[in-house]
Amino acid sequence: MPEQVYNFYAGPAVLPKQVLKQAALDIVDFNQSGMGIIEISHRSQAFTAVIQETEALIRELLGVPGHYKVLFLQGGASSQFFMVPMNLLQKDRVASYLNTGVWSNKAIREARLFGQVEVPYSSEATGFTRVPQHGEYTVNPKSEYLYFVSNNTVYGTQFHAMPETDAMLVADMSSDILSRPVDVSRFGLIYAGAQKNIGPAGVTLVIIREDLLERVSESVPTMLQYRTHAAADSLFNTPPVFSVYGVGQVMRWLRDQGGVAAMDRLSKQRSSLLYEVIDSTDFYRGHAEKASRSAMNVTFTLPTRELEEKFLRETTEQGFIGLKGHRLLGGFRASLYNAFPLEGVAKLAEFMQAFARKN
Ligand SMILES: *Cc1c(COP(=O)(O)O)cnc(C)c1O
Repeated sequence: MPEQVYNFYAGPAVLPKQVLKQAALDIVDFNQSGMGIIEISHRSQAFTAVIQETEALIRELLGVPGHYKVLFLQGGASSQFFMVPMNLLQKDRVASYLNTGVWSNKAIREARLFGQVEVPYSSEATGFTRVPQHGEYTVNPKSEYLYFVSNNTVYGTQFHAMPETDAMLVADMSSDILSRPVDVSRFGLIYAGAQKNIGPAGVTLVIIREDLLERVSESVPTMLQYRTHAAADSLFNTPPVFSVYGVGQVMRWLRDQGGVAAMDRLSKQRSSLLYEVIDSTDFYRGHAEKASRSAMNVTFTLPTRELEEKFLRETTEQGFIGLKGHRLLGGFRASLYNAFPLEGVAKLAEFMQAFARKN
């Protein structure tokens, strides 16, 4: 292995070094209690303090209004594909979904199990190279909500402005939450699997407007109702204690870095470094249309299969790990989440320039 490794994996993904070091200590002995963070009761004072601080930091960093609940759930972001319609969409009602990639496709399939689903926009026919701009679609005014994926992790596209509609917004922000400011008050529900931008795998953050908690039908199993977890402050059953702790540590780090505004600046800096290289030559081809490009996942291909194999080999030798694109898309994907060091992107950009010249 090279001395310095840069972790470009799409998720689970890079976490701040200092968080990992602290976690290593806390796993053995948390707060000098003689017990590790993963062996104490989730109802202990020590863990209650952890989950409360984690929630408070998320509220502060994202500006979550008081009439929203912040929940820590399990089952991954993928369980939200069904929990959202199960709780918010009645059988005879309609919801609208923007189809911009793998994750929205999966969510649409699940939503159809519960109610009527309309898809006013899809970029599927053109290989999901873009997200819609304002005015490109109209939402049925009867929609209970408009669902979209703010950052399409696989294809490398991102909504740079939130959809403008009278319908309530519901968003999967798994791969860009806390990387930029968001006006939470425009949403009914936001969710994100932790393992991309905010912590270890195993916990899903859900932010839900309080009045929606009662919309659910009584026949939904207790564990699958948001209100169950809201009423119990995410302690209805044993939560993923280590993951919640991990998110809390990342939130402390994020606050110390300057919060969401700092993350926003940094993510633009990081991604521009790579997009500039991609645009400066015909050698690399970006997958996403320029106006839809993601600041989190930069996707591109090379002229031939042979060159791609060579690129993969040489980048790996240089310590650039996890660049292989998603199996559906091929090519390469550089995932540049909050904890990704800027100098690592600069080094990859330099390498890409040299590789294009030589080949
Ligand atoms: C990774 C990802 C998911 C799936 O997350 P799991 O926690 O593995 O279920 C869903 N949506 C988006 C946008 C993702 O990036």
